Amino acid sequence: MLKSNLDQKATPKFLKKHNEALLLREIYAHEAVSRVQLAKLTKLSKPSVTELTQGLIEKGLIFEIGPEDVPDKVGKKPTLIALNADAYQMICVVIHNTTIVVSLLDLRVQVIEVEKVPLNGSTGNDLVDLLARAIKRMVDKATRPILGISLGSPGIIDTLNGVIHLTANFGWHNLPLAQILTDQFQVPVYIGNDTNFAAMGEYRFGIAQGVGALLVVEVGEGIGVGILDDGRIIHGSTYAAGELGHTPFPFLDDVCICGQCGCLETLVSWWGLKRHAEVLLKQQHAVLLRQIVGDGPVTSDAIRTAFEAGDPDIIALVDKAANYLGRALVIVINLLNPYYVVLTGSLLTFGDRFIDTVRTTVHDHTLPYITSRTQIVAEPLDDKSIMYGAGAFLLERELGL
Ligand SMILES: [Zn+2]
Repeated sequence: MLKSNLDQKATPKFLKKHNEALLLREIYAHEAVSRVQLAKLTKLSKPSVTELTQGLIEKGLIFEIGPEDVPDKVGKKPTLIALNADAYQMICVVIHNTTIVVSLLDLRVQVIEVEKVPLNGSTGNDLVDLLARAIKRMVDKATRPILGISLGSPGIIDTLNGVIHLTANFGWHNLPLAQILTDQFQVPVYIGNDTNFAAMGEYRFGIAQGVGALLVVEVGEGIGVGILDDGRIIHGSTYAAGELGHTPFPFLDDVCICGQCGCLETLVSWWGLKRHAEVLLKQQHAVLLRQIVGDGPVTSDAIRTAFEAGDPDIIALVDKAANYLGRALVIVINLLNPYYVVLTGSLLTFGDRFIDTVRTTVHDHTLPYITSRTQIVAEPLDDKSIMYGAGAFLLERELGL
């Protein structure tokens, strides 16, 4: 688990920073709040609140918005304080397999500018250059000081040191991306696994706000699992927590991209489904799929079209994938007993039948007591949760929010 900036020795300077963060969190959580309310909420003394809020006003992070509108109140009305969402701007980047999405946000994660940049097959250092140029364009558009840059990327990522350990698709191996970008832009830079950031985004600003134990499971090109416990990302000893896709399952015996045999991803991923569909075609099955692809290669779209057109062999294949995903979730749910499992990713485009099969499988194989508070929800595919998570991470690290 990543240590927060607050896990430090309690020197007087640190104590002040800690108490400032306490106040700022409450101010962030409210549209407007008085100093008296802040003292009650934080249990800090009223003189401390007065002194600390003055410091935050001088830093430009908060401002006084006027007296509280309390009808019939006799005497002086308390002055309300609010966050200055424009004190800084943040640059949040979501790196996909085919595009980079760079957003400029205010401190309330409202999007000010956004740019989508196609990768056009760039990998390695070329991709780093492409990324840096896209960030530079957004830095030039910023109208306020930049709090920092936060990036969500696929792969195994050492978030503490800002190093991408491995993102095979991009040819990135032990890449100190945070340092490279810090040197160039002279602001704090953070990098996290995209699914971890998605979990953080759902926790801070999405459908699972404040939920103690939360999983985000993304199924598409592979399987990614983001795990949050009380708002903290579970990274694991080598930042590889959540690599559920490379767990061997019974009756799967294909060789996986990781080199092992029988991984879940050899069935529950687009590449796994394509491989299985090709075997069906060789066996003269999946007649509708054959009509769709002719003599060409099997594509994700062709599989989805055959599924929607009612090809019984493709329907059985997708059902099997949903069933295996459900069984994998049973293991995770039994281990972590989460409140929420958020399913996301492009395999959800198979629709309700896929999601219902996952839910039914989980239901049929777990003790009712264990799942009595667990909701499995499906999120339509978008990258907002990753962007929100990147923003939330930056806010937490830089402002203690
Ligand atoms: Zn594998």
